[in-house]
Amino acid sequence: MKYELETIPVIDALEKGEECLMCTLMKEAHSDAISYYMGSSVMNSETRVSVNTTGFCPTHWNDLIEKRSAQSLALVSHTFLQTTMKELEHMKKSLYKSKIGKGAEKEVDKISSFLHQRETGCLICTKMESRLLRYTYTLVKLTIDNPEFKVNFFHGKGLCLKHTQDVLSMAKEVLDKNAFYTFSNELISLVYKNLERLEKEVWWMSQKYKSEHIDSPWNGCEDAHQRVVKKFIGEGRLFSSSK
Ligand SMILES: [Zn+2]
Ligand SMILES: [Zn+2]
Repeated sequence: MKYELETIPVIDALEKGEECLMCTLMKEAHSDAISYYMGSSVMNSETRVSVNTTGFCPTHWNDLIEKRSAQSLALVSHTFLQTTMKELEHMKKSLYKSKIGKGAEKEVDKISSFLHQRETGCLICTKMESRLLRYTYTLVKLTIDNPEFKVNFFHGKGLCLKHTQDVLSMAKEVLDKNAFYTFSNELISLVYKNLERLEKEVWWMSQKYKSEHIDSPWNGCEDAHQRVVKKFIGEGRLFSSSK
């Protein structure tokens, strides 16, 4: 499969120095996608057609509420509702005309599968999935083609455990065997080195609550408990419904 490079966002995200480069990027991807569907694009007929046919998953419908762009959400939800009602109206008539027993059951099955299909697919999930692929591809390519990025990435905080899987899978797809061997060894060493750092940080945090350490410095470990959990779960994944 061919992927586009997205060099600038990946380099900028690395400079933020968070626990996972991909989580930083996916938080941005989520925010951009929500803003897109709650922005001027709702006036665009192409967007309205795609919203009517595909819609959003429950997680992302709820995120659209949280965005508090009342007029945009009113427009989007109104057209989605009209499309749903149009289909349901035909099914309502067919159910009414159906025979008691098997006939009614068949019509109800049709309604259930239609309602299920209305919940299937999500424009925001699709946008985020394609951005994750482009970003993992760019990260792998930059570690090969850009020596400065390579040094900064392999001396940084690395990735969460979830995105480590995604990046390894991309590396396997796009690198030759030699480059894949080198890259996967370097990546796993980086991830492990950062788990060791977090282990020390969260250990110190647990000790800091003991009375003998009341006057000892925090050494930047005040939020180690949160960072270690985010390292396990991948914070960026919480914004995606295909968790
Ligand atoms: Zn991550
Ligand atoms: Zn979604």
